[in-house]
Amino acid sequence: MKKLICAVLCVCFMILSVTAAFAAESNLTVDGTWSIRVPASPTPYERFAANKLQSALSEVFGVSVASSADASAPYIAVGSAGALDVSDIADNGYRIRAVDGCIHINGTGTRGLQVGAYRFLEEFCGRKVYTAQITELPKAQSITVPADTDIRYEPYFEYTETDWRCGSSDIAEFSMANGMFGGMYRSLSAEMGGTIRYIGGFCHTMGSLCETANYKDTHPEYLALHDGERTTDQPCLMNPDVLEIAKKNVLKILREQHDPNASLQIVSVTQNDNYHFCQCEACKAFEAAHGGVQSATMLYFVNQIADVVKEAGYNNVAVDTFAYQYTRQAPTGIVPRDNVIVRLCTIECCFAHALDDPSCSRNTALMQDLRDWSAICDRLYIWDYTTNYAHTCLVFPDFGVIQRNIQVFYEHSVKGIYEEGNYYMASCDAEFGDLRLYMIAKCLQNPYCDLDAEIDGFLAAYYGNGWKHIRKAVDLYTEKAGDKDGHLMIYVGSKQSLQLKERDVSVLDRCWADALREAETDTQKEHIARSELSWRFWKASRKKSEFSLLNPNRYAEKEKLFRDLQAFGVTTLSEGGHNDYLDCICIKYAPADEWNDYEAGERGAETRVFFGRILEALMPILTLGGVYYKLYQRIYQR
Ligand SMILES: [Zn+2]
Ligand SMILES: [Zn+2]
Repeated sequence: MKKLICAVLCVCFMILSVTAAFAAESNLTVDGTWSIRVPASPTPYERFAANKLQSALSEVFGVSVASSADASAPYIAVGSAGALDVSDIADNGYRIRAVDGCIHINGTGTRGLQVGAYRFLEEFCGRKVYTAQITELPKAQSITVPADTDIRYEPYFEYTETDWRCGSSDIAEFSMANGMFGGMYRSLSAEMGGTIRYIGGFCHTMGSLCETANYKDTHPEYLALHDGERTTDQPCLMNPDVLEIAKKNVLKILREQHDPNASLQIVSVTQNDNYHFCQCEACKAFEAAHGGVQSATMLYFVNQIADVVKEAGYNNVAVDTFAYQYTRQAPTGIVPRDNVIVRLCTIECCFAHALDDPSCSRNTALMQDLRDWSAICDRLYIWDYTTNYAHTCLVFPDFGVIQRNIQVFYEHSVKGIYEEGNYYMASCDAEFGDLRLYMIAKCLQNPYCDLDAEIDGFLAAYYGNGWKHIRKAVDLYTEKAGDKDGHLMIYVGSKQSLQLKERDVSVLDRCWADALREAETDTQKEHIARSELSWRFWKASRKKSEFSLLNPNRYAEKEKLFRDLQAFGVTTLSEGGHNDYLDCICIKYAPADEWNDYEAGERGAETRVFFGRILEALMPILTLGGVYYKLYQRIYQR
């Protein structure tokens, strides 16, 4: 019996060995002897993809990789130089396949091939573009491509955009590597495949399209009747003359800015940013007949504009409107034309809980609207929010929902997503802007990516050796996100942003200190100090740790935070609050998230300073020279 078992085991071992050897032999080993094979007359897309592969692989192998139309095997064939059929792949998708000892990459649409080349470099060379400044490309003698490689990718969304880092002029490489193709905040060359642009305005265009301001005196009936008065804030959407004016202006925009070669262009016909919709008899009657919601008149209006756009032959143009605030609910008995985009906006939502988390009461209405619009709209887009507009310097702990929410959108047939963030980041870069940009890009590229691994990779590249401490901080922020009920909205003070016990505060202090201690380069240290501003800002708002009432030095700490914010170029603390805090004479005496409220010369500010100075003078006595604070530190910071 023993002999029999031994014999069986031997046979099994031999089979396994042979299989392993066969697999190892058939894997492709790509090195500097390989070439890039290009078509004899390459398109701009093919030339761009080939150049990208050639330069990156030359860098990897440390030799000049050749590129030619008559390259002999082994080679990487680009576009029509290879033999890959991509006719069944959706626009802007690609295929990467190992065939007969060579590699073929091909794509569709205006950018599928180029993005496929980037995917090859990421997948097999480990090339990661984490920010506009940080690209990792490990050097190697050779890289291994499994013999059975056959990667097929189709974009999850036709339109992806965010305003994080919109000020960065060199965001194109990041966008190509991580999949971001909206044209509002980035410019991609024609050979890169271009962008999808909104022409004639990105949002809140209704006033200008309907010229409401021009008809105040001559045709008040063109204006919205709201609370008994005509207002230029919105037009009357059932007035046929208003519709003609808007049609004329949309066609004028298209005559001037239409690009017949673009994959898609969008004209926005969207309500102004207020609630002053028309309540005239005609509007009310139409809405009453279509579900009793204001989106009914909006859709009626936009559909007819979409019709004239189509009749005029603009087949690569879509007309976009909002499902925003008072138009958020879907109507009944009327559906969007196929060239209409509806952008559903999540402005009222909670970002501590995923949109489909049944435990969150704040998101159930939005989920219903998402389902309703998804049922009637073939081109549903999302306008989503990813920062705290009231206090942009505070930590905004939405890290736990970014991926799931994008999955939820995808699972409801959403075709485009705009993740609005901190578009004024150039004057308010104090948090995790680069991390959030990377997370958003990766999830829009593939909502089901291994985001944890992506985050870890980013943190290591961005913050250096001590990155695990930052990861711990991010995870703790995420766990403790929101108000006392655990909800996180986008216009909140420090009290509603995080719920931390004294022990948590100490743990987080240690995370930041440990990360800084283990960082090696000046850039990593700068990244840590910059992101830590948001933590210090939270503590200075909640009177925690070094900003504690027990610390006699808290006034100096507050001044130090103020100086550091300025040194890092932070001149804005909230949306629309440009430079306000620079005038604040209460820096030392008010919590950080109240700085914008105090201006020199105002009575409240003077009073605050007066009582603040008295308290400051008494501090050494009140705290017995800091004895209580030392005690506090002994208890919590061990
Ligand atoms: Zn009306
Ligand atoms: Zn919630």
